[in-house]
Amino acid sequence: MPVESLAARRRRAARIVEAFARAYPDVRIELRHRTPFQLLVATILSAQCTDKKVNEVTRELFRRYGTPRRLAEADPAEIEALVRPTGFYRQKARAIQGAARAIVERFGGRVPRTLEELVTLPGVARKTANVVLGTAFGVPALAVDTHMKRVNQRLGLVRSKDPLKIERELQGLVPPDQWTAYTLRVIHHGRVCCTARRPRCESCPVAELCPWPARARRGRAGRTGSARGRTAGTTTRRRRGAAGAVAR
Ligand code: SF4
Repeated sequence: MPVESLAARRRRAARIVEAFARAYPDVRIELRHRTPFQLLVATILSAQCTDKKVNEVTRELFRRYGTPRRLAEADPAEIEALVRPTGFYRQKARAIQGAARAIVERFGGRVPRTLEELVTLPGVARKTANVVLGTAFGVPALAVDTHMKRVNQRLGLVRSKDPLKIERELQGLVPPDQWTAYTLRVIHHGRVCCTARRPRCESCPVAELCPWPARARRGRAGRTGSARGRTAGTTTRRRRGAAGAVAR
């Protein structure tokens, strides 16, 4: 396979961005929220949990503690009980209350609007910060989660496995005004089409721009070939073994 030049990869990336926009024009974040703070909390809770479950939990959590001040002053045991269905509830309860307190104490009760400040909050890593920046504040941001990693790797747009490096690689390929929409579309695509176990390449809107189906076919052919080779080898060895047994 010839190595694709950076210019060619950029051209292909532009076509992929367009194809996703056509296929998924109205994709929105599925985590229910009314404020940047609620989105921050919901995103922290979404680690290792479905958006559906998070939405069930935040309905009551936000009814009782929907602002940084209220959550900062809440009883920790009550927060734990409320967020328990999302898993890892002790760490998550600590993180969301710690973030609420930091927002109250250091940012006057308002969620900060820069990546540098957001990542100083407890429980807020770069991905969460980028989700909040992109969706709540309209700041162009690429949030690299498991779907962004897998889909962009299969598309051959990124080579690294490290989320920060993937973000940097994509920044050089996708126009900034598309970063947030691209993130949402790729995450949606990873959920409905390019799933981890069984990507549905036959109905994929970017199939003709993706090297994965051909690579997967070559991989299957290679495995079939070596399996045949192994079977033939085994048969030959068996025959030899049988012949040897008779000779003895
Ligand atoms: S062609 Fe297949 S591997 Fe490539 S993006 Fe589409 S579903 Fe994923």
